[in-house]
Amino acid sequence: MSDLHTEIAIVGAGPAGLAAALAVCEHGRAACLIDDNPKPGGQIWRAGLTAGSRSATNREAWLTNPAIPAELTARLARVEGLRVLPAARVVATQNAGSLLLEDASQARYLHYQKLIVASGARELLLPFPGWTLPGVTGAGGLQALVKQGLDVSGKRIVLAGSGPLLLASAATLRAAGAQVLLIAEQAASRQLAGFVWSLRHWPAKLAQAARLRWALRGVPYRAGSHVLAALGKERLQSVRLQQGQHVRELACDWLGVGFGLVPNTELLQALGCALQDGSAKVDALLQCSQPNVFAVGEACGIGGVDKALLEGRMAGLAAAGQVEAAQALIPARAHQLRFAAQLAHHFSLDPAIRQLADAQTLVCRCEDVRHGDLLAYNNWREAKLQTRCGMGACQGRICGAACATLYGWPVTGSRPPIQPTRLGSLLQLETTEAPSS
Ligand SMILES: Cc1cc2nc3c(=O)[nH]c(=O)nc-3n(C[C@H](O)[C@H](O)[C@H](O)COP(=O)(O)OP(=O)(O)OC[C@H]3O[C@@H](n4cnc5c(N)ncnc54)[C@H](O)[C@@H]3O)c2cc1C
Repeated sequence: MSDLHTEIAIVGAGPAGLAAALAVCEHGRAACLIDDNPKPGGQIWRAGLTAGSRSATNREAWLTNPAIPAELTARLARVEGLRVLPAARVVATQNAGSLLLEDASQARYLHYQKLIVASGARELLLPFPGWTLPGVTGAGGLQALVKQGLDVSGKRIVLAGSGPLLLASAATLRAAGAQVLLIAEQAASRQLAGFVWSLRHWPAKLAQAARLRWALRGVPYRAGSHVLAALGKERLQSVRLQQGQHVRELACDWLGVGFGLVPNTELLQALGCALQDGSAKVDALLQCSQPNVFAVGEACGIGGVDKALLEGRMAGLAAAGQVEAAQALIPARAHQLRFAAQLAHHFSLDPAIRQLADAQTLVCRCEDVRHGDLLAYNNWREAKLQTRCGMGACQGRICGAACATLYGWPVTGSRPPIQPTRLGSLLQLETTEAPSS
């Protein structure tokens, strides 16, 4: 299959990538937008079944996703120079300026002059006894399953972990007919009160939080509360929770647990871009340490949809040569970064969360490596070499962040493939000499 060429490649069609594509194309430049989902929207605007799951390379059909604000899709439908590659994922980089893409039928190169990485974030999943039982998922993961058709009507669900995503997930589950028994937030009530007080500087977010609480009226939201174990034989039957000084057990059908978000930086690392505190290190215009590479949205720091939209727009403008217009948005970004700092501060993890796993608890689910097996090692590399932790199908995307949190091992470096890939695609990587752009 022949190679593709574009002026500006954008990886990720969540809020950040969509905003970047709009800014690029509204300023007369050509962009190619790649996402591994069949529909755009990313995590927050994940397309439901009504949007149709069939991938469409026709841009208008692809944009049919009622979860995305209508004004954004209408503007994206009008621009010229935007090519979309749905259900395609970036699996590797070759030379600077070339990405290896894989879709259901083929692997091919995309050569670009500039790259905007809007790869988003995933949940931080931390091991605790029973966390691998069927019926236990991430909190946002369960939300995603429901958006894509899992029937939870009448099911008893407990959500646990940390951060605003617990409330957003609970609202989706309740609207889908689930019985949300409890939201267990590990942050203490004084942390939560501090967070709510800080929201006076972001009135729209305060209003959003109030709307969520209203939608969840009657659902207990317990601060200073965390999961201790998921219990059941073949499947989840109940959850054991620490609530203040008390331990209680609650029978349930599903348990969704997430301790916040982790930026997806594998592609950035493969490109040699520097990281800072686990996300892309960027300058005031979102440029990474490698030339012609920008990082936006959750990939350059967890801060929610408004930050993602703004950063996408800024990087799109900068990449399209509209530097002054991008610079004019720097103060607005500073305001969003202050919100991101509040999030990180008020939802910081209670040290008890790092002690939930016992010696038998699996940390690496792909390679069956237990907490007890890992205690003998001093760093991620040693642990990988000796136990195969992080060497399985997910390539450390889950257990890498868990090890960083549990043992303080920074997970650095990323090697191909960035995501699970067909062998044929990797062969292409080894045998093709990609031309420089
Ligand atoms: C599971 C989950 C659920 C969430 N739900 C909510 C919610 O309900 N409400 C809310 O306010 N916030 C939610 N968030 C937070 C959310 O991350 C932000 O609000 C917002 O979506 C961030 O936008 P973004 O564009 O930076 O990233 P995202 O929306 O995550 O978009 C990134 C996109 O890039 C794609 N991608 C990544 N790597 C590759 C690759 N190599 N090749 C191709 N495509 C790739 C991803 O599949 C994704 O579609 C959720 C986060 C997670 C992890």
